Formats: sequence, C-alpha cells, structure tokens
Amino acid sequence: MNHDRSRDLYDRALSVMPGGVNSSVRAAIEPYPFFVERGDGGHVIDADGNRYVDWVMGLGPLLYGHDLPQPVESAVQSKVSEGPMFGAPTEIEVEHAEFVTRHVPSVESIRFVNSGTEATVSACRLARAATGRDKIVVMQGGYHGAQETTLVEGEYDDVEPSSPGIPEEFAEHTLAVPFNDEEAAQRVFEDHGEDIAAVMVEPILANMGIVAPVDGYHETLRDLTEDNGALLIFDEVITGFRVGGLQCAQGKFGIDPDITTFGKLIGGGFPVGAIGGRSELIEQFTPSGEVFQAGTFSGHPVTMAAGLESLRYAAEHDVHEHINDLGDRLRTGLQEIVEDQAPEYTVAGTEGIFKVLFTRDAPETFEGHCEGGCSQRPDCPRFEHCPKNAADVAAGQTDRWRRVFWGEMKDQGVFLSQNQFEAQFVTYAHTDDDVETTLEAYKQAL
Ligand code: PLP
Repeated sequence: MNHDRSRDLYDRALSVMPGGVNSSVRAAIEPYPFFVERGDGGHVIDADGNRYVDWVMGLGPLLYGHDLPQPVESAVQSKVSEGPMFGAPTEIEVEHAEFVTRHVPSVESIRFVNSGTEATVSACRLARAATGRDKIVVMQGGYHGAQETTLVEGEYDDVEPSSPGIPEEFAEHTLAVPFNDEEAAQRVFEDHGEDIAAVMVEPILANMGIVAPVDGYHETLRDLTEDNGALLIFDEVITGFRVGGLQCAQGKFGIDPDITTFGKLIGGGFPVGAIGGRSELIEQFTPSGEVFQAGTFSGHPVTMAAGLESLRYAAEHDVHEHINDLGDRLRTGLQEIVEDQAPEYTVAGTEGIFKVLFTRDAPETFEGHCEGGCSQRPDCPRFEHCPKNAADVAAGQTDRWRRVFWGEMKDQGVFLSQNQFEAQFVTYAHTDDDVETTLEAYKQAL
C-alpha cells in the first residue's frame, strides 16, 4: 500500500501543527496516520487513493457513514444558503429541542453547545451550582472530554490531574471509583456524601474498551444520588441516539438521570454538544438563573438542521435495525474468530458499537460460548472474564494494538480506531460485504 502523499502531508503538518494533528489521539499511530481525502458510504479513501472499510466513522457522529440521506443533505444546504449563522435564535433550534425532549423522557429542557466537552463542563458547573457542593464522582478510566474536572488519574480521593497544566487543587474536587463496583459507590457516599454534587457516568463505558454495566449498577447510582441530595449525570455523548435507539441508553436501562450530556450524533456530523435534563435544573442557565453558559456557535443552524434531520430520518426508517443487525453479525463473527485464534481476548459492545479487547486471561479459566452483546449477564460462561472496570481493561496488551495489529488491519483495507480503548461504530452505510471483509482481516491479523 502506497502512503507517499500521506507521509508528505504529515511531514508538512509537523511543521505547523503540534504532532501534525488537531486532536492528539489522531497521532497515536506510528510512524504517521493516513490523511483522508474523502468518504464513500461505509468507506474512506486516503490521500494516496487507498480505500478502507471505515469503523472509526468520525469517532461516532455519523449514523449514515459518509453519505448523508438526501433530506439531511438538502436541509444542510438550505441552511448554508440562508446564511450560515446569526447569533440570534432560529426556529430549527426549537424543532431540534422539541425532538429530543419528545423522545428522551428525562430531558424536559435542553441547551445546545458545540462539543461533548463543552457539554460535560457545563453539566459539572450546573450540578455544582444546583447543589451548592463541589465534588464530582467519576469512573476510573472513564472519559468525558478534554476538561479539568474529569482529566484525572488515581483512585478514590487520591486523584491527580492526568495532564500537566491542570492545577492540583482542581483534582481535589474529583473522586474516582471503579465502574461496576457498588460497594465503592456506597463508600464514596458514606465518606463524602455531603460534598458530592454529582456522579457523572457513561451508561456504557465506551472509552476504555466497551464495558457494560452489571445488573443493578445504575440503579444503585440512582438511589445513592437521590438519597444523598446529589445529581446523576449520564454522559450520553457516545450512546445518545445510538444505543437504545431514540430513547438512548437511559431508555434501554430504564434509568432517568437528572442531567444528560449529548454530542456526536445529535449534530449529524457537525460540531455539537448539549446538556439536557429536568427543567428546574436546565432553567438555571437562563439569565435569571445565573449559572453562566454561553457560546458564539451554540445552536448553529447548519448543525441543528443536520442533527435534527438525521434523527428524524432514523425515526422514519429502519436505521437502528440495520445497524444493530450488522453489529450483531460482526460481533458473532468476531467471537468465533477470537475463540479459535485468541481465546484470551474479549469481543465487547452492543448494538452499533463494537471492539475486540486484548485481554490476557488464560483460556483455561473459562469455557463455553459467549452470547455476545457484552451485556454482563451473570449466567454467561465468560461473565467472570468480561472486563468490568478500568483495571480489567488496563491489564490487556496495550502495545500490540498500536504497534502491530492496527497496521495489519489497515494494510488489509480496514480502518479501526487508532486508540485501543475507543469504541468502533457501525453505520447505516455499512454492508454485509464490509462485515465479511472485516472478519477476514481480523482472522489474518489476529
Ligand atoms: N464524553 C464522552 C463520553 C466522549 O466519548 C467524548 C468524546 O469522545 C466527550 C465527552 C467529549 O466530546 P468532544 O470530543 O465532542 O468534546
């Protein structure tokens, strides 16, 4: 595979952009990432003309792959032709807010912003303001964007910023507990209950491999927050409108969080985020509520049109069915390959997200066939083996993905996320052939 032009572009980029990229995760692959020229359905074509089946899909915002359905494309073009933005309200924002509040029962009111990070920053500020408390509980190994409160490492109340540039004092307001550990969640409330403003959690952790909740875990978080006067924030930046269809992951699990953060899919491929929740909370963003929240580009008409039309199209077509069906086929195929060739590895994911985790358990520690779907069912023969928290995931083989496996897949024309821990995404544009090509490539690469 020829990568001359990507290499030249990367060389130029290194002179003018840090790491040659605009998001540090894009430079994870050595010696250099390929540069994309264009998309085509479920594929991307790089600057040297190489074609790949694309499971990265913009890291999650693309429900339709690289071809927008005609009504979405028309809505976007029509908004562009009306003038890109105004700094004043437009009807399309109201329509989008109406759509989300109609489908997600816990969301009575919503504020649109421009990224998932902006949404989680504002959610933390709102929770702190609403409760008069400072501490936010997060899951070890979880990710909520490039923001000060949640970029931490360490355990429990012994956490530090995970990036230089964040004052140590900021981390004093963050508590990190292991996901799926009910006792740790109870303990953190026993020890710090009066200071905890909120627990922020992805309903399915999709940034450290894909880790599903064990039965009852979210109910425990719901009860603990309620009993202690704290808020439950579901970060649905990845899961929102992807897992659980239009009701999102909270609908799938039957939990009503106080606040939900959205991103990715609700912008139809354009920059977006949102904070939704009970009216009395979100209302605090009004000028009289006084929790400051603002943004030049927020509720951008082009983004709103793309996001709303994408979700409407999904509501009227078999979009989630197609995606979930292909996702099942992919995971079932991967499960067979893994059992045959790398039984210590774990196939994770559900509906339109999937990942093979390079876990290390000795094969003799489990027997029997995983049903797939990573639903953490205690009766699954691999239940004990399935990673439940960051420690389980981190015990995997970290270098193999980046240094060997990713390149093997790329050379066979399959584009996987550059980070071993990031979810991969099935879209409406993917086909049976894409699944077959990908399974064959996994077979070779593993
Ligand atoms: N929250 C979660 C769960 C995410 O996965 C991400 C990004 O991947 C973010 C927040 C941050 O979103 P953004 O990259 O749009 O700022």
